[in-house]
Amino acid sequence: MAITISKIGVVGAGQMGIGIAHVCALSGAEVLLIDIAEDRVSDALALIERNMSRQSGRGLISAEDMAAALARVKSGTDFGLMKDCDLVIEAVTEDEEVKNAVYQSICPILKEDAILATNTSSISITRLAADTDRPGRFIGMHFMNPAPMMELIEIISGIATEPDVFESVREFTVSLGKTPVSSEDFPAFIVNRILLPMINEAVYTLYEGVGSVDAIDTAMKLGAHHPMGPLELADFIGLDTCLAVMQVLHDGLADTKYRPCPLMVKYVEAGWLGRKTGRGFYDYSSEVPVPTR
Ligand code: NAD
Repeated sequence: MAITISKIGVVGAGQMGIGIAHVCALSGAEVLLIDIAEDRVSDALALIERNMSRQSGRGLISAEDMAAALARVKSGTDFGLMKDCDLVIEAVTEDEEVKNAVYQSICPILKEDAILATNTSSISITRLAADTDRPGRFIGMHFMNPAPMMELIEIISGIATEPDVFESVREFTVSLGKTPVSSEDFPAFIVNRILLPMINEAVYTLYEGVGSVDAIDTAMKLGAHHPMGPLELADFIGLDTCLAVMQVLHDGLADTKYRPCPLMVKYVEAGWLGRKTGRGFYDYSSEVPVPTR
């Protein structure tokens, strides 16, 4: 039987956690947004307010709904705040060790029947679930970026995920106004299995000198009708996340076609992670992003 989900915990107040908290609060749920970094937590509510104001300015939500949604979001650094949550959505860094450490900390705090969902872009749900105290109540809930704008949520059951957990999460997804698509638990699921190799190929195209950043992005926007060029999109996603997904594809499917481009590796090693660090394939220090190659 599907359970009622009315109190949500979101772990990780990065770009995805903030967007997920935003969507859940607008749908009427109480939301707790938790991060280990004090500055992330202190910035989070202001960022959500700014993003909702933009939606309100465009007439997508009313001022009353926005005020009510903001009143439903609380943030903090104490995992203990999540003890009454029906569903916890983990959206921390795309690193299996970091995610496992979070589960070890939060599982003893959560209600026995609470559902634990991960927003991982690529990592095996079955393997992540196996390291928790609740493989049957563990599931993948993959929001797209930016979560308030994108219509899709991929839902991924691990081998042990109970059918009623899948059904509860599917119903909850619909209640958020999103469309669920079910994916089998294969590396990077559906969207990133297709999207990330394209981004990686765009970085190879740059690396081999086939085109400049501007030429590659313009070509794909005007020539393939993509709303964003692949390098602009890589900067938006975060190059650390892009690289982590390519590594999961490469390791998990053992096919050299998924080899991460050495230029992507170098950018991540340099700390040039895209928009979130102010530099990636574009430099974001001035008002208009400037291509770096
Ligand atoms: P991000 O770097 O913007 O944020 C990660 C957050 O996790 C940071 O605020 C960090 O402080 C926090 N964190 C790290 N360790 C923590 C811990 N032990 N406890 C609590 N918080 C911790 O990353 P993001 O882009 O928001 O990605 C988060 C997750 O969402 C990843 O699994 C990623 O693959 C997935 N995802 C990302 C995108 C995207 O386009 N960026 C899209 C869909 C899914």
